[in-house]
Amino acid sequence: MSRIAYVNGRYLPFRDAKVHVEDRGYQFADAVYEVCEVRDGRLIDERRHIERLQRSLGELRIRMPMSPRALGVVLREVAARNRIGYGLVYLQISRGVARRDFAFPSPDVEPSLAVTARSLSIARNEALAAKGIAVITAPDNRWGRVDIKTVGLLPAVLARQGAIDHGAREAWFVDQDGKVTEGASANAWIVTAAGVVVTRHADHAILRGITRTVVLDVIKAQKLTVEERAFTLQEAYAAREAFVTSATQLAMPVVSIDGHTIGDGKPGPVVIALRQEFHRFAEAG
Ligand code: PLP
Repeated sequence: MSRIAYVNGRYLPFRDAKVHVEDRGYQFADAVYEVCEVRDGRLIDERRHIERLQRSLGELRIRMPMSPRALGVVLREVAARNRIGYGLVYLQISRGVARRDFAFPSPDVEPSLAVTARSLSIARNEALAAKGIAVITAPDNRWGRVDIKTVGLLPAVLARQGAIDHGAREAWFVDQDGKVTEGASANAWIVTAAGVVVTRHADHAILRGITRTVVLDVIKAQKLTVEERAFTLQEAYAAREAFVTSATQLAMPVVSIDGHTIGDGKPGPVVIALRQEFHRFAEAG
């Protein structure tokens, strides 16, 4: 079956799904995106993803190209046309197509909207979670507003490739004070020796993950102690458990950081329980 994408009002076969060479997403990374999990053919946490999208657009003064309701229809239609049982939908909105100039184009330039979807292997994801993943760390060299979900992802691309080159799967960024900010494409968490779950507070230095928000709800329901604060790399090395959260990985155990074994080198009970409970707390559309 050929894949279908939505581009600016049309559902198209992948080979015809193109944007203009002067699209500002292509020229300047002047664009934002969202990734939503699809499970049993349903969009997970669509409302929260669209709310975060609206915030990202607002921060950059890009117009929302259609109402949240209409956008939800497009997302579900792309997932359905690609027959996604388990996988993801990706959407990107750029400031539109205009002659290359750093300043904003005229306000009547329409933003561009593109949506794609693809299947993922639930078995592969679960196998990874059963083993846990290795992480390496890298200096956080991103811009100061990573709370906005822009497509300007070059530091994350390089950090992730660095992880792969070192036989790891994810990279954690570390700020100038030696504190972990987040992963290249996921939020970072530890469980201390005392059993406290710690993740960085959501300021301009991290993306406020939708999975992070839902996991905080699960943690509260499980009556675990949680602290939203920066933690050092040393605390991470000494943690009892570590994990990352993102829409496609859910709560994914981390079993080594920079070659230091975390806990006993196996996924711990806290992350296993959070992963199991996640979908009881997420919204399925
Ligand atoms: N942090 C970064 C830098 C990300 O790129 C992502 C996801 O892409 C996340 C955190 C996790 O966000 P979410 O849980 O909404 O997928």
